[in-house]
Amino acid sequence: MSECKVCGSETGVVFNIGFSKTPVCDSCAYTIAAQQAVCAESERDRLKAELKAIRDMVDKQAEDEGLWFDAVTCPEAYLQRELRKLHAAIEGEGNG
Ligand SMILES: [Zn+2]
Repeated sequence: MSECKVCGSETGVVFNIGFSKTPVCDSCAYTIAAQQAVCAESERDRLKAELKAIRDMVDKQAEDEGLWFDAVTCPEAYLQRELRKLHAAIEGEGNG
């Protein structure tokens, strides 16, 4: 038995934290896991909102006639082709 690194109570449970054996009791381990789950959920929500903002911007660009004129010069065609690739990557085409 060792002393839980968090609350100091006796425990036989040991975790590998930073490559060292660290005693953490079941109760503290549960609390930490629950806290991490909440953080992960909030990070997921933040990333979803960020992705939506990026996709909204791409949708706006897709409707912008100033960008999708008939390309005459090579640089114009090149720019539009690269923009299409960027849009495809953001829209997740080819990623299932
Ligand atoms: Zn503890």
